[in-house]
Amino acid sequence: MAINANASACEEETMRLYDKLRTIGYRRDDCELIAPYTLEINILKKKNNALILAHHYMTPDIVYGVADYAEDALGLIRRGEESNADMIIACSVTSLAEMIKIGSPEKTVICPSTEAGCSVADSITVDEVLALKARHPGAPAVAYATTTAEVKAVSDYIVTSANARKVIANIPAPKILFYPDHAFGKALQQEQQALNKEIVTWEGKCVVHDNYTIDQVISFRKKNPNTAVLFHSEVDPSLYTYGDMHGGTGAMKKYVADHPEVNEFFLVTECGLSDQMRVEYPGKKFIGTCSLCPFMKTINLENILLALRGELPPENTIHFQPEVLGNIQAAYRRSETVAARAA
Ligand code: SF4
Repeated sequence: MAINANASACEEETMRLYDKLRTIGYRRDDCELIAPYTLEINILKKKNNALILAHHYMTPDIVYGVADYAEDALGLIRRGEESNADMIIACSVTSLAEMIKIGSPEKTVICPSTEAGCSVADSITVDEVLALKARHPGAPAVAYATTTAEVKAVSDYIVTSANARKVIANIPAPKILFYPDHAFGKALQQEQQALNKEIVTWEGKCVVHDNYTIDQVISFRKKNPNTAVLFHSEVDPSLYTYGDMHGGTGAMKKYVADHPEVNEFFLVTECGLSDQMRVEYPGKKFIGTCSLCPFMKTINLENILLALRGELPPENTIHFQPEVLGNIQAAYRRSETVAARAA
């Protein structure tokens, strides 16, 4: 891939990247290879009035090289809504890129990889949702953000890990269908019992968060009693009692910021978040899990650059059939209304 960049600009960019990334093991040579990409991406970003949104699971070269914001799903949707950009490059799985488009329907939203699926999203189909609804007539159907657009379109509400608890607790119904992530569903089931709500769950499994066992966590705690253990909401809730908190990536990040007295953290989630924390808190120790999300990791500087050059195929631009769009927007607005009422 030919990159358009001059030598002195590349040298300056190499040093900018090296300054940020050396704390997590990038060598100057590594930054020299990345610099032509980040340089051209940042020039094209301005020229196209584009915004680059990166999920916490993106690689550090994307987060610190080109992203305008690196946040959790809800944070990225909000950033898109607030922006006056004409184009958004959504560095995330497709299901989240679709949510960003729902929040910003007037903007061009591009997901740089058409392979950025998700094992959780793939675990439930429209027919399965309709069958689930038929088995539980009258129960509101709540889709997690990691679902396909078609599944969202037959759902009553759409939530992320950051607002699911608030929305579900305030839906006026005694029984609620939540799909597809089984671990998050189980956690909601336990928590909502106190509110006399029955949560019907699904068996969707995340290839990253479904790999941790109680034995691993107990053994880790014994060896590292002073390390704070933070679980992502998609980890099985039977592990939560061995940790210090559980929540989405935004809540995990906030926990670190709110606990300056803690020097060591074990972040039980995809390893992209640990890399970010190491850059942002160089004096602290972050133990990651080396768990890579193979779907998130299909996004790279090369396909971001192709997106900004307009060289990706039309399938990368998020579009909805009009009836699908109308239904998803209605479910999204319903969730926003319930969350606002609860605030
Ligand atoms: S981390 Fe899990 S839920 Fe998130 S995109 Fe990857 S597979 Fe899907």
